[in-house]
Amino acid sequence: MENFTAMKKPDFWWIKSLLVAVILTLCTSWGFFAHKEINKMAIFALPQPLMSFYKEHIDFITQQAVNPDKRRYIVVGEAPKHYMDIEYYTDSILAVCPTWTQASERYPEDSLQAHGILPWNLIRLSYRLTDAFKTKDAKLILKLSADMGHYIGDLHVPLHTTKNYNGQLTGQHGIHGLWESRLPELFASNYSYYVGSATQIPSIPKAVWSALAASRTCVDSVLKIELKLQQKFSEDKIFSYEDRNGQNVRVYSHAFSEAYHKALNDMVQRRMRAAIKMTADMWYTCWVNAGKPDPKLFAEPVFSEEEMEELAHLKSAANEACSH
Ligand SMILES: [Zn+2]
Repeated sequence: MENFTAMKKPDFWWIKSLLVAVILTLCTSWGFFAHKEINKMAIFALPQPLMSFYKEHIDFITQQAVNPDKRRYIVVGEAPKHYMDIEYYTDSILAVCPTWTQASERYPEDSLQAHGILPWNLIRLSYRLTDAFKTKDAKLILKLSADMGHYIGDLHVPLHTTKNYNGQLTGQHGIHGLWESRLPELFASNYSYYVGSATQIPSIPKAVWSALAASRTCVDSVLKIELKLQQKFSEDKIFSYEDRNGQNVRVYSHAFSEAYHKALNDMVQRRMRAAIKMTADMWYTCWVNAGKPDPKLFAEPVFSEEEMEELAHLKSAANEACSH
């Protein structure tokens, strides 16, 4: 029996790794490309001396922008941090903006985990980043900052605020990847990322809930506009095939993507720019709330071999499509 187990174990791990790789290919948020852009561009909106500190670690902040998506299929409890199905809570939650304690009193824990905890997780993360600044722990500051940029990115994606996150309830399966991966990949080279200088956020919870509400108001247009276009294009014009890493993959055609992008009237660019500005504002605000510690006094971040390997792996990861 022992031998049998020992023989089977490598197969099990091989299959598990393969499954994780396949899932990751299918399921990331914003698309790797946009998440990396948001984290990277936020650095350039920071005032000194913060900008110099983050710039020194621009590679880490950029590559680690996709780490939370990498974790979500491996770490229990990670997935709900990326979205909120507002239909479950109803839109009134956007006016009430309950604290985590208030929400825990009202909703059962398993329902909260099932329907998403994006705003509460992000607010909690801001306290952790403030503490990391207070203790001048550069490694922790960088890790939490990269994670924060990711969740702020998700917060700005309309389809992260609805249970119809991939158009699966309205015959629009695939719209999630179209909006947040395909469109930025095709058209972001024309986007302007200049968002001005980071400013202090007077109330982080208020800012988080307000960004969530802004994403929520876009959901209708995101879905309706695509549905309308579907009727104008025949199926063979909606999709085309592209070579991705040697595989022939079905993608939304350039013509359909372009028509959708145009009809959205710059929505993707606006949401990306808002995510960049808010990421810079949040990093800056946590630093200010920690008493503006001098980055020159931060302990030099030391990364383990495993962390360096992970970074190298993330660097080589392709831009992917996504789900919730
Ligand atoms: Zn995500």
